Amino acid sequence: MLDFHHTWPYERVANDIYFEECPFCHESPVLIPIKKEAVENAFEGIRTHIVMPCCHEKIVVASMDQDYVWATRVLR
Ligand SMILES: [Zn+2]
Repeated sequence: MLDFHHTWPYERVANDIYFEECPFCHESPVLIPIKKEAVENAFEGIRTHIVMPCCHEKIVVASMDQDYVWATRVLR
């Protein structure tokens, strides 16, 4: 079961996804390299992954909602 510790908030500006702060290296803000289709799939619960451009940490995204990325690993 994923709980709140697996979430990280994001901001959407047009089709770009940003993290206000990287959960790993605390760079801010970070433009997330994720395709629009992958975001749409994540909203359907189809897994995708993100490699953070700042520190190259990998996040396996289990799903996304309007406010949060839900990762398979603990982010906080
Ligand atoms: Zn980082």
